[in-house]
Amino acid sequence: MIWPPDYHMHTPLCRHAVGEPVDYARHALEVGLTEIGFSDHSPMQRDDFDDWRMRNDQLDEYVEKVRRAQREFPQLTIRLALEVDYLPGHESWIRDLAVRHPWDYFIGSVHYVSETWDVDNPNKLSQWKNRDPFEVWTTYFERLTLAAETGLFEIIGHTDLPKKFGHRPARDCTPLYEKFLNAAKKHGCAIELNTAGLRKDCREIYPSRDILQLAFQKGVPITFGSDSHAPGEVGLNFTEAIQLAHEVGYRESCRFIARKRSVANF
Ligand SMILES: [Zn+2]
Ligand SMILES: [Zn+2]
Repeated sequence: MIWPPDYHMHTPLCRHAVGEPVDYARHALEVGLTEIGFSDHSPMQRDDFDDWRMRNDQLDEYVEKVRRAQREFPQLTIRLALEVDYLPGHESWIRDLAVRHPWDYFIGSVHYVSETWDVDNPNKLSQWKNRDPFEVWTTYFERLTLAAETGLFEIIGHTDLPKKFGHRPARDCTPLYEKFLNAAKKHGCAIELNTAGLRKDCREIYPSRDILQLAFQKGVPITFGSDSHAPGEVGLNFTEAIQLAHEVGYRESCRFIARKRSVANF
């Protein structure tokens, strides 16, 4: 069994993860992975935007932590990446980030469906009380489509994140998914199978099987990510994710070096 790379993990710099990159790397080797990538929450232009990401002046420190893991574990391939929040209007900031270090890939993620509501934030659960889930899904997937269209990201993260706490739209969202996946295909974005959903109330990998099936039909490539916020989560539930991907028809996943894609069987 050749494990696909785990391309989604965090560091304590984001203020809601534990363990240094060296600890994640050690665990990755213990579970038999050969390649991982760090993709911590990128800084925003304004450090006071929220409280769950690194500050601007910590970006170099982040890179150095990842470099240290690379030095200490030469037998493990370790990629340098970021999980970058996509909000409309942030494009030039994201371009600025892109030239600051030799990144291997950017995961473009939508957490914010407005300037102030990050849908996956447990402290903002009350926001859901006044919202129709279908409206949230609509805004979310519109932003995801815009993110894909920017061409700024190799991977789009956790594509149906609003389901995290168990909310589900009553209406069929297939047209939203189609539009997003068409944009992903056109602009060369992969989507990730993110196993963190299995550890949340939704108890399901991001994205759902129906979205993944559509993605396969359209030829949208995939990556795998645990979205680890602790070393013990690295590679977690990859067996389930691989099984789902196989059932849908996928045999290849992407690898990224210096923002160039290649594919390998898994
Ligand atoms: Zn996080
Ligand atoms: Zn995320």
